[in-house]
Amino acid sequence: MDRNESAPGIVIKSERWKERDRMATVLSPVWGLRRIRVYGAQKSRKAIKAPLYTEAVFHVYENRERGLTSLVDLDLISIHEAALDGLGPSFTAAMMSEVALAGHGADGPAMFQLFTSCLDALEDHRWRRVAIQFVIRALDSAGVGTDYENCPVCSRPYPDDMVLGFNSQVSSPCCWDCDSFQGTLILPPSARRYIHDSLHCGLEQALAFQVSLLMEQRLLRYSLRLWSAVQQVTLNSADLLLSLEDD
Ligand SMILES: [Zn+2]
Repeated sequence: MDRNESAPGIVIKSERWKERDRMATVLSPVWGLRRIRVYGAQKSRKAIKAPLYTEAVFHVYENRERGLTSLVDLDLISIHEAALDGLGPSFTAAMMSEVALAGHGADGPAMFQLFTSCLDALEDHRWRRVAIQFVIRALDSAGVGTDYENCPVCSRPYPDDMVLGFNSQVSSPCCWDCDSFQGTLILPPSARRYIHDSLHCGLEQALAFQVSLLMEQRLLRYSLRLWSAVQQVTLNSADLLLSLEDD
């Protein structure tokens, strides 16, 4: 049975498809991740387009027999232009897309909320802070976060001055004694306090925390490496993000 469907969503990937079309991957609180073919987007001026980071209510037509969903129309909510304004914001948004794609749409509503809020935040906040908050919150929303209070291996509370390591058995930060990464993924006390405290308040409030640029750079490096160690997926955009100078 073919049918028409509508749901809110945001385009997190857009690729050329055949000669004239594009394939948009939409992150939706209703659908999770859905690939939607946008006919004529490559060539025709009149065709409805859905470029990267278009947030809209998408009206689609599903052809079950051909296993194909195509875009019929959309009601635009936002184009999130801040996401393409400069290298830092662009690479941050690209990293967010990679993280969301790796989740296979399993945590649709939470990821959609986090994704669109972080894109909006790129307008008012330094992109490094947005990237850090996105990554540590994405781990939480995927159910693989940690409380940064107690070691998930030995259950002991962390002393205030403890540097955390990483344990590959439980795929999580852990106390120094339970480290199995030979001290190659460490979290100093001040950085742990930042992550812990920022996870205990709303995104806007967390983004307003005063952090030095040096601390932002370290936290970004740590959070990107942490995400890869936990999910065991390489983030292609990580090196790009980390190579950027201050702006
Ligand atoms: Zn431990």
